[in-house]
Amino acid sequence: MLVEIDVAIIGAGVIGLATAREIAQEKKGVFVFEKNRTFGLETSSRNSEVIHAGIYYPEDSLKTRFCVEGKSLLYELCDRHDIAYRKLGKIIVAANEDETAQLEKLYEQGRRNGVEDLMPLSRTELKKIEPNVEARAGLLSPSSGILDFYTLLKFLYSQAREKGAKFVFGTEVIGIERMGAKYRVEIRDREGISAFISRVVINAAGLNSDRIAQLAGIDVAKAGYKLHYCKGEYFSLSSKYRNVVNRLIYPTPEQAGHGIHVTVGLDGRVRLGPNARYVEEVDYRVDETQKKAFYNSVQRFLPHIELEDLDPEFAGIRPKLQGPGEAFRDFVIAREEKASLPSLINLIGIESPGLTASPAIARYVGRMVDELFA
Ligand SMILES: Cc1cc2nc3c(=O)[nH]c(=O)nc-3n(C[C@H](O)[C@H](O)[C@H](O)COP(=O)(O)OP(=O)(O)OC[C@H]3O[C@@H](n4cnc5c(N)ncnc54)[C@H](O)[C@@H]3O)c2cc1C
Repeated sequence: MLVEIDVAIIGAGVIGLATAREIAQEKKGVFVFEKNRTFGLETSSRNSEVIHAGIYYPEDSLKTRFCVEGKSLLYELCDRHDIAYRKLGKIIVAANEDETAQLEKLYEQGRRNGVEDLMPLSRTELKKIEPNVEARAGLLSPSSGILDFYTLLKFLYSQAREKGAKFVFGTEVIGIERMGAKYRVEIRDREGISAFISRVVINAAGLNSDRIAQLAGIDVAKAGYKLHYCKGEYFSLSSKYRNVVNRLIYPTPEQAGHGIHVTVGLDGRVRLGPNARYVEEVDYRVDETQKKAFYNSVQRFLPHIELEDLDPEFAGIRPKLQGPGEAFRDFVIAREEKASLPSLINLIGIESPGLTASPAIARYVGRMVDELFA
């Protein structure tokens, strides 16, 4: 007889942790399986730590909906539970006429998305609040901020455990097979291979989420679930630039990312990045030959920086549904009824703004789980 549980969550990144916190209750057997030795060692700890406002994406997308909702929930959570953050604001800057036109479009998009506090800035207004930034115009988003991802992840982990979720680290899910209304889930840990039965399976496996869907029998290519890895590297600026800017400074966005931006850590340290390069494998090394490209990109709006003041820092990988040159793709958050897997919930392509959106995504998945247990 195999052990039977109620919910198996695959992955202990921010999405798996927030979901576990949302759905865990004493009566429900919620287990989180994580292949690494602890939570949050992949994309959730390799990002810009920015609480996004929700400006960039189409108004009817899940990215916008959950980013706008998640931002409020996240600030509330940080306030209530002493999670370090700063709502320092962000400015998207334009260097020329074309980019200024792009700012106008972003302003309109942001308003359509329900981001009511955006403020266009002239060059003079920008200079007054960011004297070291050089640009033709700017768009201020006062509600953007930064947070300490580790405190957030630790808080979600602790609360999920307090509410009864069990975490199984060092355990990789290697098979999912439908058995009537339930699933047989195969796992591999240090002891070998074993299996259990779960009523509901939630796939929050980040960079592996397309493979998990495939394991469950979904034709990933046909479903449009194939992930493309898009690497984002960061360089730090030497400590002499501490507080060189007062806010997050972003260029106008690129096709695959938000553009190499300048973030200020909670300690005032300044970081540049990420770039956006499609890659074949998960490899977190920073390619130092990218340094000049970073410098050229940021020097356009922060002209005083010197090339030798940049140091390679870290990299993250975006789990993108959108391949190179392809059009916008939204998050996939789906109960797989069409694939005859009604109690498999897939979360695929949870790239930026996934950190911001995490509490809202968790709520949404929580409602799906409630329906399944109703
Ligand atoms: C460069 C970069 C910058 C970003 N900046 C921001 C930002 O500023 N603001 C923002 O809101 N968002 C940002 N994001 C997006 C955000 O980081 C992600 O959306 C979010 O962290 C995704 O969390 P996750 O839990 O889905 O994935 P992950 O954190 O990758 O977690 C998935 C987990 O699943 C585990 N797993 C995988 N396969 C298996 C298996 N078979 N069995 C068991 N466990 C498994 C993995 O080990 C991993 O721990 C950024 C992303 C990148 C890459």
